[in-house]
Amino acid sequence: MAEDPNHWDVETRLVRGGMARTPYGEMSEPLFLNQSFAYESAAAADRRFSGEEPGFIYQRFGNPTTQVFEDRLALLEGAEACRATASGMAAVHAALLGLLRAGDHLVAGRALFGSCKWIVSELLPRYGIETTYVDAVDPAAWREAVRPNTKVFLVESPANPLLEITPIGAVAEIAKAAGAKLVVDNVFATPIYQKPLALGADVVVYSATKHIDGQGRVLGGAMLGSAELMNETYKDFLRHTGPALSPFNSWVLLKGLETLELRVTRQTENAGKIADLIAEHSKVKRTIYCGRPDHPQAAIIANQMTGGGNVIAFDLGSREAAWRFLDALEIVDISNNLGDAKSMATHPSTTTHRSMTEEDREAIGLTQGWVRISVGLEGPRDLARDVSRALDKA
Ligand SMILES: *Cc1c(COP(=O)(O)O)cnc(C)c1O
Repeated sequence: MAEDPNHWDVETRLVRGGMARTPYGEMSEPLFLNQSFAYESAAAADRRFSGEEPGFIYQRFGNPTTQVFEDRLALLEGAEACRATASGMAAVHAALLGLLRAGDHLVAGRALFGSCKWIVSELLPRYGIETTYVDAVDPAAWREAVRPNTKVFLVESPANPLLEITPIGAVAEIAKAAGAKLVVDNVFATPIYQKPLALGADVVVYSATKHIDGQGRVLGGAMLGSAELMNETYKDFLRHTGPALSPFNSWVLLKGLETLELRVTRQTENAGKIADLIAEHSKVKRTIYCGRPDHPQAAIIANQMTGGGNVIAFDLGSREAAWRFLDALEIVDISNNLGDAKSMATHPSTTTHRSMTEEDREAIGLTQGWVRISVGLEGPRDLARDVSRALDKA
């Protein structure tokens, strides 16, 4: 075949990347729901286990359906290799613990997804790994936080829930100079709008639960980076700790990838309209959306993202107003997921970010009036009517 998938358009990668047909010539990717594989002979088993002969051994190590998902996502990201995990948190956990040892030091952006914060603040110290949190927006803060034993930088950009942006290229240079690996949680940008590896990151992690599924069905995650990191550095950690993605979920997520670009593009179109409507409403104190020129880091966004994404954050001034808004919604659901076909709104300080102290929330600017909306695929007029009506009642 003369076609090189690395030259394919994004849409073609998402529909056809990684396909490995069986002799039946099936059009839709097959689901290999099996744990183990039989070998032709004892000698063949020996060759398979030694790595001399390629092939599958056990579902915890790899699976044909999961591999199609991994190859397709790697092709989309422009990564040499991808390893799928059972959830986004399994990917974050493996990405960090696979690189860090007792006595090492981590630098992390202050605004992190709640469970990531737990790993960094509660779990890592049990193993003697210390962390310095920094104002992720400011490259000087990253540089000043570096110690001789700094091994990893952890960035979430845009960060949850206030969509703070880290200048990934500048922070990657600082990490490189410090001899540290840069791990980027790219969930909010999606692989459609931001390519951290091209900006200098070493590892990209996803919660595939979000836009990649995008239809509210399964948990999944992925780690991407160089073949050396994914197939050597992380190999034993992933094989022996067991965060493997179920082949059934891999198959669901493969189907999600086929429509990822279509969905994210339409969600972003919808989000742009809803963000403008929110920003212009008299009840709203402040609106943050990565696709608007008034985002505080709009200049950095223009450098590293190609679209605003589907999440909007806005401040209604008080918890009471935020709750009145949520309770007045008739189409948009109150829920904490994101990237789904169905629009949903959440009050972060009493749900996703409730385990943070009031002080920590204040440090990232998350006061009680903030609401986060993940805009879905409903008709934009219906969404606009629902959101406007709820804002009037806030
Ligand atoms: C949801 C999410 C995660 C965790 O993913 P799960 O699939 O729920 O384990 C990690 N990081 C970010 C930014 C997320 O939004």
